[in-house]
Amino acid sequence: MFGAAGTLGYLAGAGLAPRIGDARKPERTATDETLGHNARLLSDLRDLPADAGLPYDWVVVHHTAAESATLEGIDRYHRNHFGDPLGAEYHFVIGNGRREPMGRILAARWRHQAWAAHLFHPERAPASIAVCLIGNFHERELPAPMANSLVELLATLLARRDLPVARISEHRTVDRRLTACPGRHYMGIADDVRDRVARKISLAAGAM
Ligand SMILES: [Zn+2]
Repeated sequence: MFGAAGTLGYLAGAGLAPRIGDARKPERTATDETLGHNARLLSDLRDLPADAGLPYDWVVVHHTAAESATLEGIDRYHRNHFGDPLGAEYHFVIGNGRREPMGRILAARWRHQAWAAHLFHPERAPASIAVCLIGNFHERELPAPMANSLVELLATLLARRDLPVARISEHRTVDRRLTACPGRHYMGIADDVRDRVARKISLAAGAM
């Protein structure tokens, strides 16, 4: 865990400890079923009228730090520990192939169209929504299928609000020394992710 101790420690995923005995072999690739699910979710996002939904200006990337997290578990944890009836303080979650399918994009708080308490200093990324990668990317590199899903999701989220890639941030970039989230391996590729998102958005614009 990387967050400050105390009530905001959950921001780094504290408390989502892996379950002992969870021996299921992790998936290494996204299945066709997951890719189809992602395509439908992204298409629904693109079809949402520009003036509908949360008027976000930033998208901030997090990780759970826990490898065996699930959306249901994050929902339950945030509901129980922070008294938030809406559950997860992340708008979208991306599975790592352990207990959520590899690369699967799951709508979390987005389902409720509510802002989230996901930053210590929200004023540094005002009107932000949160995308959370399941796993610990301080300890290991982000698998390619998760990176691909993240790039697709970020490109879709930015395009529908006509935001530049500079509006993609990371929890660590916002809250600095208060957290290592989403981990040093992710921080090492953060600019590459922004470049890939920029290319995807310009390709999509060129295709119109
Ligand atoms: Zn975080």
